Amino acid sequence: RKLVTMSAQLAAANRELESLSHRDGLTGIANRRHLEEYLGEHFRISTRYGTPLSLIMLDVDHFKSYNDEFGHQAGDEALKLVGEVIRDTLRGADVAARYGGEEFAILLPQTTSEEAAVISERLRSNVESKHFPHSQITVSIGVASCTSELCHQESLMNAADKALYDAKRSGRNRVETYGYLDGEERNV
Ligand code: GH3
Ligand code: MG
Ligand code: MG
Repeated sequence: RKLVTMSAQLAAANRELESLSHRDGLTGIANRRHLEEYLGEHFRISTRYGTPLSLIMLDVDHFKSYNDEFGHQAGDEALKLVGEVIRDTLRGADVAARYGGEEFAILLPQTTSEEAAVISERLRSNVESKHFPHSQITVSIGVASCTSELCHQESLMNAADKALYDAKRSGRNRVETYGYLDGEERNV
């Protein structure tokens, strides 16, 4: 019982440290908190200087079956490798974060919708051709962009999420682009 309490305390301490360090312990890339701080800053920059901003949401396909078939540890290894592909594919100013369990969010500052679509496709294809120890993995990607006149954090997130949902619905292992926010999204 004591041991259980201790390991729970250790896990909590690890989470706290992770959050303080702004790094996700498994993949080594930024965590959600870090991304959210960056997002706010980049929305301000975009509005002030008139630069576009894009956001990618990426989710591993059928990851539950991967875990069920090969075990949770194999799943963790696979997530690490996905993190590696993301790190290797992005450009210097891009900010990637592990957003949820098997979901990643990537902020692309000063990036048009067209450029974001190209980078998203590169990400998708790099994951597809990466070697995973147990079985190949694919990801679905939703991407949305905003211009300086209309750059709202929540709307951009919602639009990228919607695009991701469409990518899943239309068969997975694909990129769906929402394009620029057009004002309809303000109240999403
Ligand atoms: P979809 O293609 O629709 O995204 O299907 P999915 O199976 O990926 O989606 P679902 O949301 O049903 O399952 C997500 C799975 O991801 C379930 C959970 O066990 C696994 N997962 C989430 N975080 C982790 C993690 O940190 N490590 C491991 N090994 N698995 C994780
Ligand atoms: Mg998934
Ligand atoms: Mg998911």
